[in-house]
Amino acid sequence: MVFEEIKNQGGHEEIIFCHNEDVGLKAIIAIHNTVLGPALGGTRMWPYKSDEEALTDVLRLSRGMTYKASAAGLNLGGGKAVIIGDPKTDKSEGMYRAFGTFVNSLGGKYITAEDVGTTVKDMEHVFSETPFVTGIPEALGGSGDPSPYTAYGVLMAIKASVKKQLGKDSLKDVKVAVQGLGNVGSNLVKYLTKEEAIVTVADIDTDKVSKICKEFRVENMDPQAIITSDCDVFAPCALGAIINPDTVGNLKCSIVSGGANNILATSKEGDQLKEKGILYAPDFVANAGGLMNVYVELEGYSNDRAFKKVEAVYDNIMSVFNIAEKENIPTYLAAQKMAKERIETIGNLRKHHQGRNSRPFSTLKQVLERQG
Ligand code: NAD
Repeated sequence: MVFEEIKNQGGHEEIIFCHNEDVGLKAIIAIHNTVLGPALGGTRMWPYKSDEEALTDVLRLSRGMTYKASAAGLNLGGGKAVIIGDPKTDKSEGMYRAFGTFVNSLGGKYITAEDVGTTVKDMEHVFSETPFVTGIPEALGGSGDPSPYTAYGVLMAIKASVKKQLGKDSLKDVKVAVQGLGNVGSNLVKYLTKEEAIVTVADIDTDKVSKICKEFRVENMDPQAIITSDCDVFAPCALGAIINPDTVGNLKCSIVSGGANNILATSKEGDQLKEKGILYAPDFVANAGGLMNVYVELEGYSNDRAFKKVEAVYDNIMSVFNIAEKENIPTYLAAQKMAKERIETIGNLRKHHQGRNSRPFSTLKQVLERQG
């Protein structure tokens, strides 16, 4: 049953079940692929209804991280962890330190970070037991909140999309509709207004809407209506599956490029976008800025270098568009192809030669220095 599930989810390298009765820890760490480097991915804490549900989620999420890191051009593999429990009621220092000891036992093959249900404070507890953790406070040598970098990467994706689809080098007077004004969306609005784009925003949280509209003098819309509004770029920065059977037929934008994960409900919507001539910037390439920022943390953090690194999202998205055009395939497929091919090429290289990114992972050097 378990091995069947692993096979169906893409054949992971290693899966670790972590259990500590004393502190109530039940966690799973999934390492999908380490061909490009150590497997990096956050720890999600969620009240999963069953162990099977937790396993399915961690296998799916870790595989996604492999492709995200690869498409971003990083020397990182894909991994993820889940802790079974309610983040509001079940957390303790002991639980996260116990989890840290399991992460440490992997010797750097897996590096963790925050995700849904985990905080910087939790990662500080993990850091007490292992250096193989990112997203820790700036005071401890970490990079802090990744959202401004994610948003900056989304801006790069929008710029590349506008260049490809509208032939424009500037975002001046380009109409962008931003759905969701959380950590990513609010930063994106800041960057877009700086570029003199015409921005419309929406959020179900009216306080956020008022604040952003006042600060940046942008127009707001109904959260549902914004999806099918008349704009050049629709930028989903709230929930996943926003391009679904109910919305795809009514879109009036010519580009979909945003920060949200899993923008397409299914691959069918990706095919439909192509048929409609709407250019889609694949989410895992467009929203990789946060991961790039964390990668810089592994090399020894600098804010300037992180922003510079994130600029690569422009070229990455452009490469995806070029593959899609050349092979006449939807962009979501082109992104998967690009990510898989890089892993295959570097993997084949390793069969014959040992380079500086061969195991033991070079990026870990810096992490280990934190141990001292
Ligand atoms: P967040 O929770 O800070 O913000 C989400 C916002 O969306 C909230 O303001 C919420 O009120 C709003 N929202 C929820 N439902 C909505 C609806 N139906 N219509 C309009 N607004 C709605 O989250 P975030 O960190 O800004 O992340 C946004 C998205 O980007 C998520 O899908 C996340 O997985 C993805 N993402 C985030 C990062 C990062 O660095 N934070 C990195 C990669 C991907």
